[in-house]
Amino acid sequence: MRLKRRSRMISQISVFVAFFLVPLLNVFRIDVGGQHFFLFGKKFAYDDGLLLLVAILFLVLLVVLGAKISHRFFCSYMCPHNTFVGFLIRIGKRVPGLDWAVAVLLAPLAAFALLAYFVDPGWLWNAIISFRGSPLLIFYWFTAVGLFLLFGIFRYKFCANACPYGFFQMVFKDTPRERNGVQGLASRLPLLILVFLGGVMVYMAASHPGYHARIIHIVETKTSEQYIFAGKIEIENLQFQPQAYSIRIDKEPGLQVKMREQVTLAPEEIRQFPITITGRRTTNRPILIRVTNPAGTILVQRVSG
Ligand code: SF4
Repeated sequence: MRLKRRSRMISQISVFVAFFLVPLLNVFRIDVGGQHFFLFGKKFAYDDGLLLLVAILFLVLLVVLGAKISHRFFCSYMCPHNTFVGFLIRIGKRVPGLDWAVAVLLAPLAAFALLAYFVDPGWLWNAIISFRGSPLLIFYWFTAVGLFLLFGIFRYKFCANACPYGFFQMVFKDTPRERNGVQGLASRLPLLILVFLGGVMVYMAASHPGYHARIIHIVETKTSEQYIFAGKIEIENLQFQPQAYSIRIDKEPGLQVKMREQVTLAPEEIRQFPITITGRRTTNRPILIRVTNPAGTILVQRVSG
């Protein structure tokens, strides 16, 4: 019993601390305004939508399975609301009024952490300390007041009457019959899918090259005598260090190309470089651009053909 209580307390504190650290350490957050997302400390563009989809499916399935496998496991062991309300009630019993003071102090911090899952934390912090009047700042204070009401006033009434996840757990809870026989095996299938999704997510994040390249077409004309292409190569460095890239083109010998062959981008920089191709095309072979990063990973983009 003591062991159970201790493991519950360790789990509650760990999840409570993780709630604040996960967006700040870029373990997982979506930068809605910047159209990027962060996973395991790496930055990705919305172009990597498949990875974002896998990560969101993983989280949704994790939440559903938590409710299915163990009724109220999330509430007892993980929910930051439960952890914090329990803590407030304990200190309120020892020192009346202290619970209110702690709730007032922690609500703005919790609002900051919550919004940091969707907004750049540095940008949000600057907006708060500079008192710049923006819709985001209004939303931030609105969230802080809402969280204070949740911790300070509603407390467990929220759990009993309004928490969507609490209701969700009631609906998805396994009955003992579902845990046995064929139904039991079927009910374990989501667990296998969860492990599979987790593996795919880690593999995709770890094997991502850390940059993007794409061709922007401005003009492209082709006659039997002359081929003209004018456009740009856009390269985005998603890493937190400067990176040098080499650019090569696969084309027929009769074509003249003007473009940069070496570029260096600052951390998280996105830049476009002009490219023109002129001359006479003698084959229908595709013209390909190869952008190589310092690790030797090559991204191939098709210009034409
Ligand atoms: S009912 Fe909702 S708010 Fe309450 S402990 Fe469970 S998950 Fe947290």
